[in-house]
Amino acid sequence: DPVIGVLALQGDVREHLMTLAGLGVTARPVRRARELDGLDGIVVPGGESTTLCRLLDVFELRDPLTARLRAGLPAFGSCAGMIVLATEILDGRPDQVPLGTLDITVRRNAFGRQRDSFETDLPVAGLAGGPLRGVFIRAPRVERVGPDVQVLAEVDGYAVAVRSATAMAVAFHPEVGDDDRLHEAFLELVTERQRTPAGPRTP
Ligand code: GLN
Repeated sequence: DPVIGVLALQGDVREHLMTLAGLGVTARPVRRARELDGLDGIVVPGGESTTLCRLLDVFELRDPLTARLRAGLPAFGSCAGMIVLATEILDGRPDQVPLGTLDITVRRNAFGRQRDSFETDLPVAGLAGGPLRGVFIRAPRVERVGPDVQVLAEVDGYAVAVRSATAMAVAFHPEVGDDDRLHEAFLELVTERQRTPAGPRTP
């Protein structure tokens, strides 16, 4: 069975750990570089992306995590986690450096005041069983996707769920509520990678 880490610097770590445990995989918090050892996938939770990006440096996780991601470690980011995994951030702080795992440009807090937080039924490509209830909390949106990134869902014409060969990211919070289909999709991605352990990604 795969072992999935949840980056446990800040944010809704517990919700992701519980969702993953409920799906029968070993899920453990990651705060230290050595806790990356033996992982088959990593989740970057929602929270506050400026804080997350800063704590990656404080906890000296940025370089070892980047190395694992470049070597193909599957990653799943929700909300702030999507921002952290992106290559480019709009409306971020000037000193906010993302991990650059997914070739996307995201705009922080993109849905404006009136729709600061909202829920919507969201059809997601590849998910059987109908639309998913998307919980958006000061959510980002994707304003550019790279050639190897597939859009899975949109709101107002902007991508809010994307995936590449090794990473998935969503602008909302699949870890709240009891719909585990996106975590299941991530575990499928992890299993695919285990079956075809591709070499390092080309940059
Ligand atoms: N607005 C937050 C950020 O930019 C993300 C919010 C969330 O994760 N719910 O980091």
